[in-house]
Amino acid sequence: MSNTVHDVVIIGAGHNGLTCAAYLGMAGLKVKVLERRPVVGGAAVTEEFFPGFRNSVAAYTVSLLNPKIIRDLRLHDHGLRIVERRAQNFLPTPEGRYLLIADGKTEAEIAKFSRRDAERYAAFNAELDAGADVLRDLALRAPPNLVSGFNLRSLSEMLKLGALAKSLRRLPDERLRTLFDLFTKSAGDFLDRWFESDLVKALFGFDAVVGNLASPYTPGTAYVLLHHAFGEVNGKRRTWGHAIGGMGAITQAMAKAAAESGVDIETGAAVREVMIERGRAGGVVLTDGTVVRGRAVAANVNPKLLYTSMVPEGAIEPPLLDRMRHWRCGSGTFRMNVALSELPSFAALPGRAPADHHTAGIIMAPSLAYMDRAYDDAKRDGWSREPIIEMLIPSTLDDSLSAPGAHVASLFCQHVMPELPDGASWRDHREAVADLMIDTVEQYAPGFKASILGRQALSPLDLEETFGLTGGDIFHGALSLDQLFWARPMIGYADYRSPVKGLYHCGSGAHPGGGVTGAPGHNAAHAIVRDLRRRRWRA
Ligand SMILES: Cc1cc2nc3c(=O)[nH]c(=O)nc-3n(C[C@H](O)[C@H](O)[C@H](O)COP(=O)(O)OP(=O)(O)OC[C@H]3O[C@@H](n4cnc5c(N)ncnc54)[C@H](O)[C@@H]3O)c2cc1C
Repeated sequence: MSNTVHDVVIIGAGHNGLTCAAYLGMAGLKVKVLERRPVVGGAAVTEEFFPGFRNSVAAYTVSLLNPKIIRDLRLHDHGLRIVERRAQNFLPTPEGRYLLIADGKTEAEIAKFSRRDAERYAAFNAELDAGADVLRDLALRAPPNLVSGFNLRSLSEMLKLGALAKSLRRLPDERLRTLFDLFTKSAGDFLDRWFESDLVKALFGFDAVVGNLASPYTPGTAYVLLHHAFGEVNGKRRTWGHAIGGMGAITQAMAKAAAESGVDIETGAAVREVMIERGRAGGVVLTDGTVVRGRAVAANVNPKLLYTSMVPEGAIEPPLLDRMRHWRCGSGTFRMNVALSELPSFAALPGRAPADHHTAGIIMAPSLAYMDRAYDDAKRDGWSREPIIEMLIPSTLDDSLSAPGAHVASLFCQHVMPELPDGASWRDHREAVADLMIDTVEQYAPGFKASILGRQALSPLDLEETFGLTGGDIFHGALSLDQLFWARPMIGYADYRSPVKGLYHCGSGAHPGGGVTGAPGHNAAHAIVRDLRRRRWRA
């Protein structure tokens, strides 16, 4: 056992753990990060998945990473370079039509399907942007806690609530109504009000179900659409881009920022238990029995994992523990990485020579009804017969991932159930479902299958076992109204503090939730610095 007592011990070196560590280090605190995997980055990593082919093997595209965090951590100085796609999205249909979303072309493209939709597109974007602005403003702030009683704590929370109400009061009434719609309605209901074309609705509907095990007609899915709209690339709002070197380039830059501020990061160090001493978190115990002491502990892991397997039973009240046991996890995600000998040629837009649409998020799910069926299938059979797939080919923007002429593609596939019906195991069905995903792409891009040199398939079980994502949940808990804002991860503890003194939440299970944002890590660091300074002052 080491006698060193760190100021803060962080469980997990995902991008939020690293962000939190870097801010704490910059505040002069002595920080130790413990990561179970041999590499840092969590779900934001670049790995060789087939000899000679590297890819962002889990998270695959960047937009939500907060610009303040990029600046504060000087991520560009630490090697991060993010580039825009030449076209944002490409939606082909198997019947040979397509919609291309690209600067200067979008309205004309939409008009191919509906002149009315093309005319309404700008107004729809303005509406979504107004909602995204509110979310952007909330992302780097702790939500007010809903607490009972009339005391100093409840008064301070009421002040925060007042400040929130004041900022919302600036919005005109109709914008407030839309905001309420976006937080509560289904994406399908929201989009049906605006558009008539299936492909235009599918463009936005995809963002509502991505990582979200739901039909686009499930209430609350409009929020997930909004959640995917609050990002930017190099100052250009609601744009998605690519980090040169893959998503691992983001977390490598974060690790450098943390190391520069004195943070000690240890990989291959799996935490077994949070130590509670006299009612406070006093460090952690690793699976090999090593004790690592800290005046505070911050958990980058899914809160369900934290409370059901790391915090000793009895440390939190039984009703809270019961809630954490029922924290809803499971994204419906099946993730593939494929090594390609050549670019795909789409029936709707033939040609293997690199073109703008090859750099886009290629959405293969031509209508909301298709997505609705995909969800129903998955619930009944364990996976969709006709899955929803987004393909991204980052090697069209980045020559560091594969040999010249060859390519790598990410397939983000839905819906699949975290647990299969009748006790079936993903170990027995992974490869058949991977074949189904490839066959689905083949329908849009004949010859795709023959161009595959190698593949990696990650079922929900693999996402859990490899990345520690409980239930394969890419967001550390569903982004549903009951698990958002002041209820993330539980009412009374939405400000990164927890029911155990000295234990903090710094991962995506805290506000504002999942995605490569860095926001939970940033916000948690502020709460920890404040509390430790107060303790030092009192001592
Ligand atoms: C397949 C997939 C695709 C995605 N696509 C995108 C995308 O394109 N864009 C986007 O913005 N977001 C995407 N996301 C979501 C996003 O990647 C995650 O929400 C985010 O990376 C989570 O970051 P985090 O730091 O909160 O947690 P994580 O990245 O999950 O980090 C938690 C860390 O804790 C470690 N850990 C677990 N258990 C222990 C233990 N016992 N001891 C020590 N360490 C432990 C884990 O190994 C991990 O490194 C995707 C996620 C997945 C899985």
